[in-house]
Amino acid sequence: MKSKKNTLKLRKKHLGPSLSLAYSEPLKILRGKGQYLYDEKGKEYLDCVNNISHVGHCHPAVIQAAHEQNQLLNTNTRYLHDNIVELAEKLCRKLPKILSICHFVNSGSEANELALRMARAYTGNDSTIVLDHAYHGNTNSLINISPYKFNSKGGQGKSKHVEVVPMPDLFRGEFNNPKTAGKQYAQAVQEAINKHGGGSTFMAESMLGCGGQIPLPNDFLAESYKWIRASSGVCISDEIQVGLGRVGSAYWGFETQEVIPDIVTIGKPLGNGHPIAAVVTTAEIASFFNNGMEYFNSFGGNPVSCAIGLSVLNVIEQEELQQNALNVGNYLFSELCLLKDKFSLIGDVRGAGLFIGIELVEDRKTLKPATEKAKLITDKMKELGILLSTDGPHNNVIKIKPPLVFTRDNAKLLVDSLSKFLA
Ligand code: PMP
Repeated sequence: MKSKKNTLKLRKKHLGPSLSLAYSEPLKILRGKGQYLYDEKGKEYLDCVNNISHVGHCHPAVIQAAHEQNQLLNTNTRYLHDNIVELAEKLCRKLPKILSICHFVNSGSEANELALRMARAYTGNDSTIVLDHAYHGNTNSLINISPYKFNSKGGQGKSKHVEVVPMPDLFRGEFNNPKTAGKQYAQAVQEAINKHGGGSTFMAESMLGCGGQIPLPNDFLAESYKWIRASSGVCISDEIQVGLGRVGSAYWGFETQEVIPDIVTIGKPLGNGHPIAAVVTTAEIASFFNNGMEYFNSFGGNPVSCAIGLSVLNVIEQEELQQNALNVGNYLFSELCLLKDKFSLIGDVRGAGLFIGIELVEDRKTLKPATEKAKLITDKMKELGILLSTDGPHNNVIKIKPPLVFTRDNAKLLVDSLSKFLA
């Protein structure tokens, strides 16, 4: 095995410099199991931030499903195969009835890219409304609708076809009465529609990830969807971070907002680390997209990926991981709220299930972001064997979104370690 120093040297020599490494002193991770990761020296880390390894790193059932299918066959969607239809059927059973048509792809970006193409085929135009600080993927057209990228370092600013509306952030935003804020923030969606004359695509996460782990205020999506639909637009829910039971009280984030999207995109957790993602939509939108041009994807929907996707969905059910996200998430949330009472550095604790953010501020009145301290805490916690990361417009929100096998003891260790360090 190469020394960590040599791996780093080779990486610098041969990999693109725009790839980033986590932590001031990078980690070399060699093994994963459940909610734990192990470095080259065998040191164990509690993974509090990897929402891709949804059912736990290297879950034996998922590995077995991949292995068995790999031994038999891996082809593409031009042949009939049971895995793809079974996965489609299973996903659709988890979704509202009207969302009955699946397309499988290889990443969240590919899913959102395809969702955009479908929406634009349906509306006949490319005007798109997104939330400020949103990230929807790494392709050209998704960078163009991701303020998180186009408005920050190296970004080229907003394109003409895109409208950006404020994040409905109860902590830092303009409106903060939870009873009324949802509808107030949705007004901006109506104004954005007016600028484009209708037929817009509205893409939003059902809980904001890169925006800083922000749950949407009640009525925000319902009201926004109402405006979009009244003007013949299409509503896309990006469930790439929060779908498949993470929010605990529901299988999908959009259910917490009591809406039914026209298109849902599903990514990260579906493959537990394997590249598979999906776009699910209505028969009507799918038929508009079927305009004569074939949609072919060399890898999307292959039998191995679909076996893995099926296995992940089964494990979520068999191990009752949605329920676990609810129980452990509620416990963690209430413990973090107690920490907030003790330490003024914690300005806000928010989230649902195992999707929680801790926003750090220098001053609770001015809300000056404690960005450096957030970085210091994640570095220090890493030394203590606990992996966290930061996000949000000011990079002062500590993200917690562990594999759903996270236990109450794990949550207690996280809170105790944070508490000791903050003290
Ligand atoms: N949408 C959201 C909300 C995301 O968080 C991400 C990835 N961070 C993507 C889309 C893109 O997914 P991928 O990295 O799999 O292309």
